[in-house]
Amino acid sequence: MLTFRTIARNVVLLIVLLTSLSISRAQSPAGARTSNSTPVDAKMNAFISRLMSKMTLDEKIGQLNLPGAGDITTGQAANSGIAGKIEKGEVGGLFNIKTVAKIKDVQRLAVERSRLKIPLLFGMDVIHGYETVFPIPLGLSCSWDMPEIEESARIAAKEASADGICWTFSPMVDICRDPRWGRIAEGGGEDPYLGSQIARAMVKGYQQDLSGNSDIMACVKHYALYGAAEAGRDYNTTDMSLVRMFNVYLPPYKAAVDAGAGSVMASFNDVNGIPATANKFLLTDVLRKRWGFNGFVVTDYTGINELVQHGLGDLQTVSALALKAGVDMDMVGEGFLTTLKKSLGQGKITQAQVDFACRKVLEAKYKLGLFANPYKYCDEHRAATDIFTFANRTAARRIAADCFVLLKNKGNVLPLRKTGTIAVIGPLGDNKENMPGTWSVAANFEQSVSLLQGLQDAVGENAKVIYSMGSNLDADSLFEERAGMFGKSLHRDHRPATAIIRDALSVAAKADVIVAALGESAEMSGESSSRSEIGIPGVQEDLLKALLATGKPIVLVLFTGRPLTIKWENDNVPAILDVWFGGTEAGHAIADVLFGDVNPSGKLTATWPQNVGQIPLYYDHMNTGRPLEGPWFQKFRSNYLDVSNDPVYPFGYGLSYTHFTYKDLILSSTSLKGAQRLTATVTVTNDGDREGKEVVQLYIRQLVGSITRPVKELKGFQKIDLKTGESRKVTFTITPDDLKFYNNDLKYDWEAGDFVIMTGGNSRDVLSAKVNWVK
Ligand code: BGC
Repeated sequence: MLTFRTIARNVVLLIVLLTSLSISRAQSPAGARTSNSTPVDAKMNAFISRLMSKMTLDEKIGQLNLPGAGDITTGQAANSGIAGKIEKGEVGGLFNIKTVAKIKDVQRLAVERSRLKIPLLFGMDVIHGYETVFPIPLGLSCSWDMPEIEESARIAAKEASADGICWTFSPMVDICRDPRWGRIAEGGGEDPYLGSQIARAMVKGYQQDLSGNSDIMACVKHYALYGAAEAGRDYNTTDMSLVRMFNVYLPPYKAAVDAGAGSVMASFNDVNGIPATANKFLLTDVLRKRWGFNGFVVTDYTGINELVQHGLGDLQTVSALALKAGVDMDMVGEGFLTTLKKSLGQGKITQAQVDFACRKVLEAKYKLGLFANPYKYCDEHRAATDIFTFANRTAARRIAADCFVLLKNKGNVLPLRKTGTIAVIGPLGDNKENMPGTWSVAANFEQSVSLLQGLQDAVGENAKVIYSMGSNLDADSLFEERAGMFGKSLHRDHRPATAIIRDALSVAAKADVIVAALGESAEMSGESSSRSEIGIPGVQEDLLKALLATGKPIVLVLFTGRPLTIKWENDNVPAILDVWFGGTEAGHAIADVLFGDVNPSGKLTATWPQNVGQIPLYYDHMNTGRPLEGPWFQKFRSNYLDVSNDPVYPFGYGLSYTHFTYKDLILSSTSLKGAQRLTATVTVTNDGDREGKEVVQLYIRQLVGSITRPVKELKGFQKIDLKTGESRKVTFTITPDDLKFYNNDLKYDWEAGDFVIMTGGNSRDVLSAKVNWVK
């Protein structure tokens, strides 16, 4: 007989089982996954069920196939290699094709010539803008300005959709704590809280509610842990504890899913022994079951085929593995197209698994409104009015200026005056091609603004701007070739380095101030652009030293896609402005900041180490049992013999032309219970001589936990604008939700105890106060 106690126990067991199911590797049929429930969903489900009842197995598998656009040219889609496949229903979508004319042609093949007239999806890597390019994502993150980040995604969506595109492979939200990894440029830095806010803002900006013809579907990537590649080498293995995975690396993906991202891209990397593309734990147990993801999962480029190289079997085997793990769409490799039918015949996969994946792809098309109107994104007039508009470029300029980070400004070298003679010297000084940065596939490089051009436009007749290249990007021409791909030329000067520097010094001699434009080229970061040393290339360092020796005031304008090791520069150069790759309007935006028309307010979202040996170096580390307390060096403490534990610049750091003082951190209470709310108020004063924006940051530390807890974690921030002399009380409201984390059983909850509440303008310099919070 069932007593109350047995029922209660069974309920508890069931909860435990459900929780543990989500972390077990037990197989369950992918076809069992379903969670649609609203009336809109019911209508969609009925529509898709009707459609699927008419589909052959081949047509269903065809929906799972995502080839690249291949050889399609306008007006000739019917003659392209891919046309026959589209007509046979063997293609679910295409990517890397643009312009309404081409896309309409191809869509016509699908909706007029294929048996069931199912429209195609058209995808593209619209990563940080379309033709109007915004700063690289790592740069964008440094604005800490969510409305601006959302705005950049919205403008990108408007422009891409005006060119026929309805799906973007963005946002990339991979947490990264290893700046050797080139793709750190594409993400939002090292912090899960900030990364989650950015993920949400981007998804909202792209998708809105997907109803309009400028709303495009987001694809959050690269799921999962792609940014934790061993040794920072792209595509490399990741291996980490579940606690770290859930607390640090997964939150931004989850935030994007919670924000309604329509699709997820599986990453290339191995995760704890099973590559993400075949990882059922990630794709089904966590993504579908734990998080309730309802969209579709696409692989990365040939991700299924690469499972063969990973050593999981032949193409047929790995294609079946990927489907069973939870992949719905196969990008480029055609493993699904060529093997799933055979696998089904042999009982290696089930009809339900194929149906599930097909349904998910069709649902995406339905949600985008493509069944109602396959040409929804094919309005011929929009390209002329919506792409690369003055308004979009103005927004790009404003947003870029908010992303730059003032790293140093000794003796107020900056802002510069618009008088006298300004020498721009360096391989990035007069270069348009590199301004958009990595992943700017739709950009027209001719339209971007170089630093030289930006400065000249800003000063007009009031000052003279002169230029010399001063050095090549790198002494090694082969390295430079690798770092100048995709038409991003570096205009190599083939003379000896000494001759190039000599020219620069004669230009510098005529100047009142030197702007040294140094650092990385656009393709020195991004995909497959890992570096083992992350300093400024030696030949540029030589130039910098020669320029410093002139004794003239000098500003280092640093172009980079990653944190660099610039300890020497920080010690020796008076002013350093980190400008990332600022996009189409880079030159204008840099000029805005250099001349003080915009006061810099960017704050770093990834730690800048002193040297490569310190990596990984991040602010929210654990304390260890032997922390270094007090000055470096101490024997038998966690530190190095040859370098301190400090970064050159900590997470959250960035200067302004004005100065902000923090005082009086006041807590509403120092002892709290249960669901009570705590407020922490700090007074921030602008005690410098110009108006400025400041990112006020909130960090919390849990002093004692059931597992070790970080020395601090970002839990809030507010970007405020203060006039000269103005003070503001900035208040953060903290609830137990802000204290939650995944414990060793992967249960997300908070624990009673003592907490340190910290606020400040970066993660190092904080005011703190303690509270006790009981359950
Ligand atoms: C990249 C993805 C990208 C895809 C499609 C891959 O190589 O890893 O980020 O979305 O290509 O272009």
